[in-house]
Parts: sequence; structure tokens; C-alpha cells
Amino acid sequence: MHLDITIDRWKPQYREAFWQLNREWIEADYPLEEVDINVLQNPEIHILSDGGSILSAVSNGQVAGVVALRPAGNNVLELTKMAVAVPWRGRGIGKQLLQAALEEARQLGAGRVILYSNTRTSARAVRLYRKMGFREIPLETGIYQRADIKMELTFDTIPVRKTAKSRLPETDLEKLTFGTIVSDHMLVADYKNGAWQRPEIVPYENLSLPPATMALHYGQIVWEGMKAFRLADSGVSVFRIDRHARRINRSLQRMAMPAMPEAYFRECIRSLVSLDAGWVPGASGAALYIRPLIFASDAMYGVKISDTYRFIVFTGPVPPFYPNPLKVKVEEKFIRAAPGGTGAAKCAGNYGGSLYPASLAKAAGFDQILWTDGSPELNIEESGTMNVMFVLDGKLVTPPLSDTILDGITRDSILALAPELGMPAEERTISAFELVEAHRKGLLQEAFGVGTAAVTAPFELIQVQEHTLPLPPVGPDTFAVRVRELLQEIRTGLRPDPFQWNTIV
Ligand SMILES: *Cc1c(COP(=O)(O)O)cnc(C)c1O
Repeated sequence: MHLDITIDRWKPQYREAFWQLNREWIEADYPLEEVDINVLQNPEIHILSDGGSILSAVSNGQVAGVVALRPAGNNVLELTKMAVAVPWRGRGIGKQLLQAALEEARQLGAGRVILYSNTRTSARAVRLYRKMGFREIPLETGIYQRADIKMELTFDTIPVRKTAKSRLPETDLEKLTFGTIVSDHMLVADYKNGAWQRPEIVPYENLSLPPATMALHYGQIVWEGMKAFRLADSGVSVFRIDRHARRINRSLQRMAMPAMPEAYFRECIRSLVSLDAGWVPGASGAALYIRPLIFASDAMYGVKISDTYRFIVFTGPVPPFYPNPLKVKVEEKFIRAAPGGTGAAKCAGNYGGSLYPASLAKAAGFDQILWTDGSPELNIEESGTMNVMFVLDGKLVTPPLSDTILDGITRDSILALAPELGMPAEERTISAFELVEAHRKGLLQEAFGVGTAAVTAPFELIQVQEHTLPLPPVGPDTFAVRVRELLQEIRTGLRPDPFQWNTIV
């Protein structure tokens, strides 16, 4: 028989049905308990506002069944308030709701789903739960009076093929260079048949690819750069994982590559970092660098959007990175990004294109380029592969985001922390000529690049055409130094984490 049923997310107009359906089935055999009444009367507060979810089976706008997922601590969701309207019973709607709820739980990043049920009235439901992979676990008292059975379903963890011999014992985490040492394992997952497949963690090893692999020719390659830190109490935390998950999806979209569910991304990063947690260095300012990478893996040399992709994550310990103050040059011949281009995506090609101009700047005695928008006003955009900030007349100033500026997570974090250090912050257009003018008046106090690798990289000199602008020396009162320290203390748990930036693995 054809069932005209769709699974729908919570809508306020389903409130009445949510209450009605649950009350009916509970009251048929039991008194409504306090916990039921709270949840049924205020689903938005007791389920949704905590990060839960409610799904409804809907036919022609009428709700035929409901189910809720309520957060129950540490990566656990409680599957609750599942009810099907009497006329719809026995038609597989419960099963459909259950499948949708488990899929949703996975998307929400749950490691485990629990439920309370009773065998007196719903032996049938319990059979269904068993069939879906739930198993009985000991029942505590005082949660639901009517419950006589508690069940759990644990999601598959990512399978791990461990290295036969760890390289950690022969690695000195106190003596590191940036970007050369990799940890023992990497994560690999493929996208095919329209879905991201089950990831796997394996020893860090070479890839074997056909020469026709599309990414090598047509550049569908995006990546992220993020860090994990050793906490003061010796745990390990990944910094702003949610924001990296969102950003890689924006990059993927721009490069016509398939989206990656954020929960999937998070779980991959969490599992890998947790396995190689021993590689996270403890020295202040040191970190475990995390490199997620996605590339087109179709093997063919006709230009098209690839149908298959590979996701790789590897990590490596990196030392504190305090570059010497940089000499930078405002670039007039080359640009990094153009309006409508790919400048806001973290894609490989942007880097490839920036290396030649950077090498010319190096040959001319500079460390780095200050990129502009290419207009006669020479509006500043970024510095090398970092965002850029200035302290102008006591104010922190940085160019506003656009499709030619990458939405840096360090940039965002520093803008959020500036008020804490008594520094007003402004996002606005800054022309190189304004810098010359401000310098002449003695108002150009600081200039620095900001990005995950260095956090802040102060400049000692800016060249704008024939004008050489030397900057005040960096000292302990320099904003770029103070904000780096503040960020460091938050990331290592030495200070409260008011924005919930840390994810403990
Ligand atoms: C990665 C990157 C940044 C810095 O971003 P963070 O998230 O702070 O590391 C800035 N500009 C470009 C072009 C980048 O690729």
C-alpha cells in the first residue's frame, strides 16, 4: 500500500499534535509524569533549545506521528515521545520515524542514543527497537516511572588500522620545525554514489593515484588548517571546529564539490586527534596542526565536475611560531583575488597563484606581500596567506570580508577578543595611502598578519610605492602580542572559554 507520508522537521503548528498524540498513548495506560508534561508543553525549550530535534510524519499537512531527540549529556541523545496516531498504526510509520530519527541523531553528532520503553503496552515497539540495533541496558529508577526497559544504540565508531610501530618515541616534541613532522595516523574517506562513505583511520602512508586524477589537472582541491592544543589539565582541545566545518563547506560549494555534513567532519577530526593525542606538544604556543584536505578523485582527463572525491586528514606537531617582525610590500602589479573569483575559498589554486609574486617580493628584500584590491586606491586586503590588521590611532582596523578576502578564524577570534583588551575594533576599507598619511601623523601604531599558523605576525616595515613606513618595535604592550597571549590562554584552558571555542576530544 502506498503511504502518503513525509518526514518533516518541527514546525510550531505541530505543537498541538505533539501534545495530543503523546497524551493519548500515555494516558491510555499511565498517568502523565512531570517530565512528560514539561517536555510536551514546552518542546521548544526542553528539546529544541538544548540542541535536540523533533520529527513528524506528515500526510497532507496532518501529523500522523512524532518523535523527539532530547540531549541527555555527553554525546548522548534520548529518543523520546514517539507516538503514532491511532488510524495510522500498523502501517510502518513508527519504523519510518525511527529511521529518520537515527539519521538525525548521527547528523547531530551523537555517539549513542538511549530510550526508555515498556513491555506491557508496546512489546511491538520494543521488537522494532531491537531490530533497529538497540539493545537492553540496566534501567535506573526515577526517570520515567512507567519505564520497564532501557535500551541503547551506539553508532559505529570510525574503524582504525593502527601503525605497527609508532614514530612518537623517536620524535622530540620540544624540538620541532613547522610543517615537516607528521603524526602516526591519517583519516581517509571517499565520496561516491552521491554520499560520503564510511571513513577509516590508517597509518600515515603514501597515496596511490592514477595520473589522470582530476584534482591534479583541474584543481578541485580545498583544505583547512586548524589546531589542537594540550590543555593545562592535560586534556586535548580542538579550536573552533564548528567554524572550520562551516568554512570547508563554503569552499566546497565555490569549487562545485559536494557538501560534507558538519557532524561527519567533526567526528572525523575528533577521532583522529583523539587517537594521536600523544602527538600534541605541551610547550606554550606549540600545537598539533590539523590538515583536512578534499580533492577530486575521478580518473579522467576531460574537464567536468568530478563525481568522486577523497577526504584526507593528517596532523603534525608544530612549535610555537613567532616570526621575526616582517618587512612587507604593497603589491601593485599582481593581485591575489578578484571580485567574483575564488579568493574567499580555501582552495589550492589561490596559493599556487600567490607564490610567484611572493618570490619577486623576497628577491627585492621583503618577507611578504600586502595584497590590494587592484584599484588605484590600493585598498588593502590580505597579507601573504594571512588576514591583516592595523592599530590606527588607538583603534584596531581590518578590511571587511568580501569575496576577495578569506574569512579567517583567527581574524574573527581577535575581533571578538579586542574589547576584552580595551581595544575598539572596526571593519572598514583601508587604502595604502591612508597608511602613508597615518604614518606621517604618527598614528600608525601597529600592523600585523593574522592566521592559524602564526596567530599574529607583526610587521616592522611597510613599503607603499616610494614611501617606506617603519613601525614601532614590538614589545610586551603591543596589542598583537597581548591578544596572541590572551587567545593562547583561552585555547589551553588557562582562562574561561566564554565563546565555547574549545572542543575537548
Ligand atoms: C587560511 C587563510 C587565512 C587565515 O585563516 P585562519 O582561519 O585564521 O587560519 C587568511 N587568508 C588566506 C588567504 C587563507 O588561506
